[in-house]
Amino acid sequence: MKKYKESFKTILDRLHLSIKKNNLKNSKQREFVLKAIYDDGGHLSPEDIFAITRKTCKNSSVSSIYRILSFLEKEGFVSSIEVDKTGKRYEIASGLHHDHIICLECGRIEEFYNDEIEKLQIDVVGSYNAKLVGHDMLLYVVCEDCLKQ
Ligand SMILES: [Zn+2]
Ligand SMILES: [Zn+2]
Repeated sequence: MKKYKESFKTILDRLHLSIKKNNLKNSKQREFVLKAIYDDGGHLSPEDIFAITRKTCKNSSVSSIYRILSFLEKEGFVSSIEVDKTGKRYEIASGLHHDHIICLECGRIEEFYNDEIEKLQIDVVGSYNAKLVGHDMLLYVVCEDCLKQ
């Protein structure tokens, strides 16, 4: 499981604040969605999340999951990566920074962190006299297992 900078309790406290700020009602389903992503530590599709939350939330639906995910993303609790063909995958936004390698055949997602790449990006942006505030690097591959087939 992934190491997070924040405990789930801290994230939940922040969620309650942002629910208040947005004048929304507390919903257990929203918390279950966030917990499912937190506990998994990987990159989940809305359908994966639905399969987990339907066990505890009887009135859950895929469309409500989509709605919750877009709220959680807008409020900075989760981030998404676009996986070709199969749509978006979601992960906890407070994880340590990393980039992604995505297999276009099987959809497997690997995380990587490369100091040199991080530094190069800062250098590139610096040559435009700008300051880097974020980036999103997705490397699309055919993974080792898929190459063997
Ligand atoms: Zn693959
Ligand atoms: Zn990731």
